[in-house]
Amino acid sequence: HAKQTGRKQWREFDPKFKQITDRQRQIEQDLKDAIQNEVITAWFQPQMDLKSGAVVSFEALVRWLHPRFGYISPPEIINAAQATNLSQALTVLIARNVCALLKALPDRDFSAATVALNISPREFAIYNVAKMLDDVTAAHGINRQRIEVEITEEAILDPDIAGEQLRQMETSGYKLALDDFGIGYSSLAYLISLNIGRLKIDRSIITNISESSVNQALVAAMVGFGRALDVEIVVEGVETADDVKALTAMGCDVAQGFYYARPMPADALMDWLQQASNLAQNDSAHRASA
Ligand code: C2E
Ligand code: MG
Ligand code: MG
Ligand code: MG
Repeated sequence: HAKQTGRKQWREFDPKFKQITDRQRQIEQDLKDAIQNEVITAWFQPQMDLKSGAVVSFEALVRWLHPRFGYISPPEIINAAQATNLSQALTVLIARNVCALLKALPDRDFSAATVALNISPREFAIYNVAKMLDDVTAAHGINRQRIEVEITEEAILDPDIAGEQLRQMETSGYKLALDDFGIGYSSLAYLISLNIGRLKIDRSIITNISESSVNQALVAAMVGFGRALDVEIVVEGVETADDVKALTAMGCDVAQGFYYARPMPADALMDWLQQASNLAQNDSAHRASA
């Protein structure tokens, strides 16, 4: 009788369950070397100013092409790092990649561009993120104002854990962004007390925005909120020309999404930026001669 089979037994004999644990174990085992040998790296996705169309910033996103499993998703990497005490080592690697990108970006167009990295909520409880960033930026001679730290509402819900480090980061000059905004439950009053420079509205609210009047109302409210507090509204998950049109009309400031570019390795990003700048030059040359 299948019904008499207990949950525990079912788990033990389900080959799918076993496969998952084997995979986890293997990933945890391989993680340290992958960090040390920099098989894991940050890829970067550009963020566009919706008014000028210029690339104004970038987000670093962790990528790991595993020899056996293919690309491992960021949440799976983050979880494995937490399970193996490698959270700090992983974020140090990403922070170094961020500094390297800032150095490689051509000064002519990007002297004020910022690069964002993600810090998961639990990291603040594991080590001093602010101090780590100070150390890495000092070693690379990077202006801290050019680094943006993306945190989620979960991190600021526990002010005891993140509060002091957030203040420390603010003092050091990092920019702060609140990621995945709109799907959690931040106290708006508390948000105001932190020096958040950007609100990143969650992708689930943005994609196909022109087809959802509820989501349009949400974004409109957030744009009003952003204006009143002098906080930039960033939209992520922008996938179509219709999305761009609607979000521009609503007054959003910065956009990120597959419509513009997918996350890519640093060298591919350099090529992409060069092409984008060539296109813009041709464009203005056309206009000048027309
Ligand atoms: P996030 O910080 O909200 O990052 C945005 C995610 O949306 C990225 O997924 C990006 O590839 C994806 N994305 C961007 N534009 C579009 C679009 O137009 N359509 C769709 N469908 N997706 C788009 P990714 O790289 O898989 O990362 C997922 C999440 O994992 C991130 O969400 C972030 O919470 C976390 N994460 C990624 N890299 C890191 C990292 O280095 N450290 C930490 N702590 N977390 C990271
Ligand atoms: Mg993010
Ligand atoms: Mg997000
Ligand atoms: Mg997210």
